[in-house]
Amino acid sequence: MRNHKYLFLFTIFFFLLGFMNIHFSLFGIVCMTLPIILVLKDRKKTWCQNYCPRASLYTTCGKSKKWSSHKTPRFFIKGNMKWIMLAYFGISLTIILMSTLGVARGVKLPMEYLRFLIVIPLPFDMPQLFDIMNIAPWLTHLSYRFYSMMMTTTFLGLILAMVYKPRTWCTICPIATVSDVILKK
Ligand code: SF4
Repeated sequence: MRNHKYLFLFTIFFFLLGFMNIHFSLFGIVCMTLPIILVLKDRKKTWCQNYCPRASLYTTCGKSKKWSSHKTPRFFIKGNMKWIMLAYFGISLTIILMSTLGVARGVKLPMEYLRFLIVIPLPFDMPQLFDIMNIAPWLTHLSYRFYSMMMTTTFLGLILAMVYKPRTWCTICPIATVSDVILKK
């Protein structure tokens, strides 16, 4: 893997931008779509091998830890864990889309707070350092939900990097699983 070693700064910047205004989290859509576009175009995992800021964060944090890594569980590499993560990802996206549609249709109030693992509300408000005027409530709802999903998966990946090898998350990352399915076809 040849990811540039300072790419992790983009990940930190992404989460800091959310503290300034949550709507910047919609840039995360690029991190979900660009890897797949590159797989389709290059017939290889160009994003994972060169540009992924999250992988750079895991590598940086995982390599700087002061204790030795545990062996990566076999069910991460050869078992069903990646399919479980893909299912979690699919369920999250479905909930995000359905609830955003509900807000857009006016049958649901926007949720303007973060949730960990879809259902656990975090007990603090995001400081919003500046407002963007005339944003539709559904877009604000979508932004909070998207930030929550990115925060959850990044946090899980960091825990794995600290316990196992730095890029253990990559063995079960939904983007990698979808990329593998595309490449096999
Ligand atoms: S598997 Fe996921 S986290 Fe790892 S490099 Fe690819 S997109 Fe990034």
